[in-house]
Order: sequence, then C-alpha cells, then structure tokens
Amino acid sequence: MTASALPLIAIDGPSGVGKSTTARRVAARLGWQYLDTGAMYRAVALAIQRAGISLDDAPALEGLLSRLDLAQDQGRMFLGGEDISEAIRSQEVTRLVSPASAHARVREVLVEQQRRIGASGGWVVDGRDIGTVVFTQACCKVFLTASPEARARRRFLELEAKGQPADVDEVLTDLQRRDLADSTRAVAPLRKAEDATELDSSDLSLDQVVDWIVAKHLAHA
Ligand code: C5P
Repeated sequence: MTASALPLIAIDGPSGVGKSTTARRVAARLGWQYLDTGAMYRAVALAIQRAGISLDDAPALEGLLSRLDLAQDQGRMFLGGEDISEAIRSQEVTRLVSPASAHARVREVLVEQQRRIGASGGWVVDGRDIGTVVFTQACCKVFLTASPEARARRRFLELEAKGQPADVDEVLTDLQRRDLADSTRAVAPLRKAEDATELDSSDLSLDQVVDWIVAKHLAHA
C-alpha cells in the first residue's frame, strides 16, 4: 500500500453480481464497516417517488436533496429515521433508480456523503463508481463481474428463496436494461478503474470470491 492510499476496499460491478453480499462478508472478515451505495441511490429514488416530484423540477429536487437524511446501520437503510430496507427493493424503486442515479445533482450530493463517511478508512464500499470517482485513492479496487446469465440465475434463486417466484427471462431483461443504463450514462458511467483488478465470478462460489478479495487486500496491506 502506498503512503497516500486510503485503507478502503472499493467493489464495483454490474447489477446482480453479488457485490453487496460479498462486500458485507469481506467487511466482517476484516472487522471493517460496510457501505452500500446502491441502497443510497435507491433511498433517493424512493424519496422522489413518495414526494411525487419530477427529476426535471430542479427547485423541488434541490429542496428534497437539502432535506435528505440518510443513514445505514447493521445492513439496514434509513430515510429520516424510517427503516426503508424492504421498500427500496420494490420493482417500482428498481425501475426509478436508473434515471435518478443518472442525475448529476443526485450524484454530487450522494458522492459527497459517501466521501465523508469513508474518509477515515476501514470501509468496504460497493457500487458502480467507487474506484473511478468516489474513492480513487482506495488501496484495493475490485471490479466484480459475472455473465448476465449467471447473474440472472443467482437473482432468480434469491427471489425464489424469499418466496417471490420470478420469470428468469424477465430477471435477465431487467439486469441487461440496468447494465445498459448504468454503463452508457454521461455522469460516472459503470466502468473498471485502470488500477482495479477484475474478477469474473461466474464459476466461483461466494466463499471463493470473499477469500480472493481478502487475500488480495492482505497481500498489499
Ligand atoms: O447496487 P444496486 O443494484 O442496489 O444499485 C441500484 C442502482 O443504483 C444501480 O442500478 C445504479 O443505477 C445506481 N448506483 C449508482 N452508483 C453507485 C451505486 C448504485 O449509480 N455507486
């Protein structure tokens, strides 16, 4: 680790690759904290939906962003003190989150909050732009990928286990729609940081991915 590097693990990658579960497990292994930035974008999308405002209404959006009270604790997401962990996983919020997260002001506000949270180090942070924008000085950057089919299969099994049977083709179409939106947007598109290491997890178990990231981190610590 170079003198200027921040002790923070950045995990970026497309939707449904298992970043959150992986990041939470890596943080637990290292005794670090975990920040789910996707949940923050989802929380803003939910707040926008509840307020019934349009992303084009700049004054209304600015007002909402200035009152935004987000917190994460023990893997739960809170908005103004309310636990919204389940609400942010609804299909409606999932549909709204791509346009909301492509908005430059939304990103500015959330990136600033993320930087403040992680500034002291000791965090595992997952998202789409953590290694490229939010924490460019992170000591360890991983770009986690898996084939769209492997990601759709995992998401399908996850939903099934939760008693929410889904159509695997629909899950695949939704993942591909979000991949396209996230990687082609003008602001902070999803891409691998030059100094990130890519790991294709299509044929790896969760334990293997976690072991690989912890070993990579310890090798450079
Ligand atoms: O990680 P998750 O799938 O919950 O993220 C939801 C959405 O939030 C993504 O599809 C993406 O549009 C957005 N996002 C982002 N930048 C991040 C994290 C998430 O744009 N750092």
